Amino acid sequence: MKFNEDHEALRGTVRKFIEREINPYVDSWEEAEIFPARELFPKLGKAGLLGVTKPVEYGGLGLDYSFGIVLAEELGHIHCGGVPLAIGVHTDMCTPALSKVGSDELKREFLAPSITGELIGCIGVSESGAGSDVASLKTTARKDGGDYVLSGSKMWITNGIQADWMCCLANTSDGKPHENKSLIIVPLGAKGVTRARKLRKLGMWSSDTAEIFFDDVRVPQRYRIGDEGHGFLYQMLQFQEERLWGAANSLSGFEDAIELTVEYTRERIAFGKPILHNQVVHFRLAELSTELEALRALVYRAAELYLSGQDVTRLASMAKLKAGRLGREISDACLQYWGGMGYMWESRIARIFRDVRLISIGGGADEIMLSIICRLDGTLPRAEKR
Ligand SMILES: Cc1cc2nc3c(=O)[nH]c(=O)nc-3n(C[C@H](O)[C@H](O)[C@H](O)COP(=O)(O)OP(=O)(O)OC[C@H]3O[C@@H](n4cnc5c(N)ncnc54)[C@H](O)[C@@H]3O)c2cc1C
Repeated sequence: MKFNEDHEALRGTVRKFIEREINPYVDSWEEAEIFPARELFPKLGKAGLLGVTKPVEYGGLGLDYSFGIVLAEELGHIHCGGVPLAIGVHTDMCTPALSKVGSDELKREFLAPSITGELIGCIGVSESGAGSDVASLKTTARKDGGDYVLSGSKMWITNGIQADWMCCLANTSDGKPHENKSLIIVPLGAKGVTRARKLRKLGMWSSDTAEIFFDDVRVPQRYRIGDEGHGFLYQMLQFQEERLWGAANSLSGFEDAIELTVEYTRERIAFGKPILHNQVVHFRLAELSTELEALRALVYRAAELYLSGQDVTRLASMAKLKAGRLGREISDACLQYWGGMGYMWESRIARIFRDVRLISIGGGADEIMLSIICRLDGTLPRAEKR
């Protein structure tokens, strides 16, 4: 992936924004277990950061996907995982399908105000009984007159407490599980929507995660994104961006974890010398930095191919898998070198340790990434016909 001065300018804008508007407040948002999305999103929108790759006619900057990767990467410098996750859900998880296959009317109603930050979006795929096995989800949207009537529930929804609308995957017919689903926009202020509870989590504290119920929620059929019955396919395509975003976003956070650990262990003296001066420590950190550069190369390669219009399901799944695995290694090793200080609730490294654990679970667990890679590589055993 080749970056030029425009990419560097975007990096600079994002860094300044984070230093001014986000990092000074992160500790208090983490403590409160929620961040003020209603205040922050319009500021992000005003800075042009919610529509970097979105079409100009809906208020986006119309830049290519390489700029989206730069944004994802820079957001990783936020001093917690929760706020970047909330932004990434909005920019790269609930809006790609809307932007690509939504009607003009729908884009004007939901995409344009999401780019300004006036509206906040979320993505509703998982259910309490269907996380990894997306095809088995139970939420239905049956047709009635000109409407869909939704029944069911969605679980672990990021931005679920503060969002105005959900890009919801629901069954619109009884057909085959990969052909009976549609993506539908559900305004979360609609009658019959209940945000049941804000879920407490191991990490990502500042991000609001909710369980949401639909009890005969009516939405006009024109709120469907693209064609009926194509929802599963659209969501699989949307997952490519979600997973690439997750992997790209992890890079700077991992880099920060290593850097913080170098600084800490250089200052911390044990047995008459800095902890960093033990070969086992600086060698291990060098090894992790090497792994991080390999992950970066994989992310850039996947992004480059995606930019050229190729299906990157295999590489995006590999990048997400590697990010999850490496995040666990880096945060564990760094916390170890921080010793007792690292085990303290308020230390940055403890927060990184808690937050990165999500990468191996959210947006498809590691094992699902492995299944996808095996399926594409032709090594997954086929069900035998009897
Ligand atoms: C903080 C957070 C935020 C989230 N945000 C969102 C959101 O905004 N929108 C949304 O739709 N979802 C969201 N999710 C849900 C997330 O995508 C799911 O948790 C994830 O897909 C895993 O589903 P599950 O929890 O039901 O795990 P399960 O499907 O119950 O699987 C449990 C474990 O079993 C193993 N496993 C499962 N299947 C296989 C297999 N075939 N082979 C081998 N092992 C297997 C894996 O290790 C997996 O982790 C979020 C989750 C969290 C924790």
